[in-house]
Amino acid sequence: MREATVSQILDRLDYLPASLCGAEPSGLLGIFPNPTLITLAGERGPPLWLTTVLHGNETTSFYVLRALADKYRDRPLPRSLTIFVGNVRAAAVGVRHLPDQPDFNRIWGEGGSGYHRLVQEVVEEARAQCPFASIDIHNNSGNNPHYGCVNALRPADLHLAAMFASLGVYYRNPSTTQSIAFSQFCPAVTVECGQSGDLAGVERALDLVERTLNLDAFPEAVPPAGALRLYRTLGSVRIDPECDFAFGGSEAELNLRADLEALNFSELESGTCWATRRGSQIALKVIDEHDHDLTAQFFSYVGEDIRLTRPVTPAMITHDPDIIRQDCLCYLMEPL
Ligand SMILES: [Zn+2]
Repeated sequence: MREATVSQILDRLDYLPASLCGAEPSGLLGIFPNPTLITLAGERGPPLWLTTVLHGNETTSFYVLRALADKYRDRPLPRSLTIFVGNVRAAAVGVRHLPDQPDFNRIWGEGGSGYHRLVQEVVEEARAQCPFASIDIHNNSGNNPHYGCVNALRPADLHLAAMFASLGVYYRNPSTTQSIAFSQFCPAVTVECGQSGDLAGVERALDLVERTLNLDAFPEAVPPAGALRLYRTLGSVRIDPECDFAFGGSEAELNLRADLEALNFSELESGTCWATRRGSQIALKVIDEHDHDLTAQFFSYVGEDIRLTRPVTPAMITHDPDIIRQDCLCYLMEPL
């Protein structure tokens, strides 16, 4: 039996509520009291599958949903569309997830909690529908260009990413995300639309959704060189939980470069300084998808300096201390 808390109930609709028009994320709970699956019939199938509001502090997917409600309330959809609206309780208060909740984009693998069972129900329904494609919309907490993430190197997945932006990331870790689950049975992309409030990110995500709704089929060959610059992730950078840290000069044990966030998607050379430390601890660690410690392959600790030992491209560097503690400082990548 499902646990009886409100957030684990999955509501179902077959229309876009009129109350979405003009709404703001803070009013989401009044429109969708629970995670909701909206099934909309279009002029043809199979459906495009759209995932929204997995992270409550990321507003772009909400504004895309609102724009779709404005446009298609009394106009036929060119293709059927199924929309999952995820963490409505967290969105109502503008946080990634509430303290009593898991991260809604880390529950799409095996697990027995009510949250896992809720998304397993969503996945099983999607698998049965054989979606045309899956798009999951997110924002970054740090300053990043727009990019799409794929979990399979099939032509359709790569085209989907290239339709959104010319930068792409291939990753297999974390393995419990929505797009990894959906990539098992349809082309899937996660689009990172800059920071919340980035209007160009909303426009670009909406454009991707509309172009995919109108697409007959994905090309069978991979996108031409130049259409998509693809990177693969090598590991994530974690800060020792025992260690206090700051950006720019301070008395903290670990002082990260003040301009670190500006290095997202820059191809950095070996020897580039990332931080200085006051003690002797290994304050910055690099961990791969199997939880192996790869720190020595990426960082050298010489005196106070922490420098790169090889060329690398960072992404998703954030200055937000909560996200650094809950998730990581950033990911390290190389061109694929
Ligand atoms: Zn997110």
